[in-house]
Amino acid sequence: MLLEGKNIIVTGGASGIGAACVKRFAEEGAGFVLIVDINAEAGERVAKEISKATGAKVAAVKANVTIEDDIKEVFNVFKKNCDRLDVLLNCAGIANTRNIYEISCEQWDRTMNVNLRSAFLFSREALKIMEPQKYGKIINMASQAGKSGGITVGIDYAVSKAGILNLTKSLAKQAAPYSVTVNSVAPGLIATAMTTSFGYDPETVPLKRIGTPEEVADAVMFVASDLSRYVTGACIDVNGGILMS
Ligand code: NAD
Repeated sequence: MLLEGKNIIVTGGASGIGAACVKRFAEEGAGFVLIVDINAEAGERVAKEISKATGAKVAAVKANVTIEDDIKEVFNVFKKNCDRLDVLLNCAGIANTRNIYEISCEQWDRTMNVNLRSAFLFSREALKIMEPQKYGKIINMASQAGKSGGITVGIDYAVSKAGILNLTKSLAKQAAPYSVTVNSVAPGLIATAMTTSFGYDPETVPLKRIGTPEEVADAVMFVASDLSRYVTGACIDVNGGILMS
């Protein structure tokens, strides 16, 4: 199995793409997967369901990824369960469809903090463990909007995801001497709770359909496993051909 015995943290793992990744990791033999999510009830439910279905050890901890004390507590909980951290998936995110006149400064800051600053803070804590162990995979959930600019989604969202792309490259350079790889995955239109109100037309997608969380999880698996051992600073597009770059 591709992730035999690996210990993993997934932010935003209670729903959508994050939950699909947790399931995929568990199916590939992960030793321990910790779901980090502000939605405690969903986190517990998903952890129980996946544990039951796969036999893997999956747990959930409630945390707001914008609060530094919550993040410290996440790592305390994680260290009580295991002494290695092999994979960090930064997947927690929020989106909106506001136009520029509707985005307040508060909204702008909130989007940056949830989507971008959290990845910086979690990656920094993760690197403290990964660098000395000379092994680790950090994966950041980007978005097609971070490359093309947002049309349906708010500018704040698109800019936060553009930040994720650069954070990924900058971290990849810093972490490379320690054999830690850092990559991002950029989904296009994926059917999750986040996009139910977006009203996308599948006909605008070259593959003529909207993607599934499981299809993103398959790409995440590649960068989470040693199949990608010579890949770092990269972005894997999962968008049905909407943007080819
Ligand atoms: P989702 O809403 O199903 O999942 C997002 C998860 O993040 C939820 O479980 C939510 O509770 C959690 N979360 C939000 N704010 C949080 C906070 N402050 N602290 C902790 N947890 C928090 O959405 P999704 O579509 O699965 O999105 C997952 C990631 O994929 C996001 O980063 C999103 O931007 C990205 N993405 C999604 C799409 C898409 O089409 N669905 C496209 C491109 C990128």
